[in-house]
Amino acid sequence: MSTPSDEFDLVVIGGGIQGVGVLQAAAAAGWRAALIEERALASGTSSRSSKLIHGGLRYVESRQFALVRESLAERRTLLAIAPSLVKLVPFHIPLYRSTRRRPWQIRAGLSLYALLGDLEPSARFEKLPRRAWDSLDGLSTEGLQAVFRYQDGQTDDSALVRAVARSAEELGAQIACPARFVRARRLDEGYELELAAGNRTLSWRAAALVNAGGPWINLVRERIDPPPPGLEIDLVGGTHIELEGRLERGIYYAEAPRDGRAVFFMPWKEHVLVGTTETTYRGDPRVVRPLPEEVGYLQETLAAYFPRATGKLIDSWAGLRVLPHGEGAAFHRRRETTLVCDDELRPRAIGIYGGKLTGYRATGAKVVALLARTLPNVQRLADTATLPLPVAPLATITVAP
Ligand SMILES: Cc1cc2nc3c(=O)[nH]c(=O)nc-3n(C[C@H](O)[C@H](O)[C@H](O)COP(=O)(O)OP(=O)(O)OC[C@H]3O[C@@H](n4cnc5c(N)ncnc54)[C@H](O)[C@@H]3O)c2cc1C
Repeated sequence: MSTPSDEFDLVVIGGGIQGVGVLQAAAAAGWRAALIEERALASGTSSRSSKLIHGGLRYVESRQFALVRESLAERRTLLAIAPSLVKLVPFHIPLYRSTRRRPWQIRAGLSLYALLGDLEPSARFEKLPRRAWDSLDGLSTEGLQAVFRYQDGQTDDSALVRAVARSAEELGAQIACPARFVRARRLDEGYELELAAGNRTLSWRAAALVNAGGPWINLVRERIDPPPPGLEIDLVGGTHIELEGRLERGIYYAEAPRDGRAVFFMPWKEHVLVGTTETTYRGDPRVVRPLPEEVGYLQETLAAYFPRATGKLIDSWAGLRVLPHGEGAAFHRRRETTLVCDDELRPRAIGIYGGKLTGYRATGAKVVALLARTLPNVQRLADTATLPLPVAPLATITVAP
């Protein structure tokens, strides 16, 4: 292991998927890169996602075609570089007489989804024959009109974060964890940073900073002097519940009878995972918890589709989406990542707002392209689009020096 340094081209704040993605991309670009994570890698939103590596079929409906196309391309890349972490799984869409979306709409949406995925074999979909309905994990057939099946990706979000962090370390990056970013002060050519690791205070220097604080992004921004530009955001809580039981046939993508929102029923580590809700959240991101009514909503939705599913509730948790501040239902807001730079020509501070687990690698590449306007021109070490992700555990995580 190399000797820990305190001087970097780039320091990333936050060890969720976006932070480790930028760290890996920066290290692959050949820069001296480091990351600061306050608690544990993936301890924020990145361990509370629906664990899907997907284009997002519902973003076809909201016409976010660029997002879907990029996400499907990233899915393809991740299936190739991390085959043990990202797998294609059959997804089923059951449609009943009472379902708001009609079979022709789903067929049109899936056709467009396949087109945006370049009509690859993995983009094919089918309408299941009636005789196959009884093999679908006890799915209610009362009023059932059609079941469509297509494929999308599933992962273990925490394991993915650890694998990307490990890859960054193998490329020479340094990770300080647990260590809290306390403040940064702008210098002529970069920043001076203070971090707290246990009872020690450390001082680092960086030519550029990336704020990957997820739901804490604007709290992190306020700790930078002067604060770089930012965005007004809404935090939207999403709850998952884990229940006893098994789903043998894959994932089910359903419409909640109560409000028509999308809910997934997923096989997860020998159990069933159901999610998610969308509830506006105000308060400390650290203490976000599922509300009893959210747990009830998910249980009620599961019971509507799988009347025989009586599995005991094992666990429930909530994570926070970062969405642009706005009026109206969170469900319909844009889901792209927004990069906010202090200076378009020579950026030294970049904030990563929003985004998906699926797009972490593309976001890392975009941040590197922006920082190439400021940071030294050095020898590239690797291409993250082809570099296989390591599966070994993170034995070498560097705790702050
Ligand atoms: C319910 C839900 C379901 C989702 N499902 C999917 C899905 O299926 N597929 C998909 O592609 N996307 C999904 N997403 C989106 C995806 O999970 C997020 O976009 C992603 O995890 C955000 O990662 P992040 O790195 O920005 O934030 P986080 O993972 O929250 O990381 C931020 C990190 O910053 C650290 N931090 C904060 N302050 C400091 C400080 N002062 N010093 C040091 N560290 C600090 C925190 O400890 C935290 O670890 C979902 C999101 C939600 C909420």
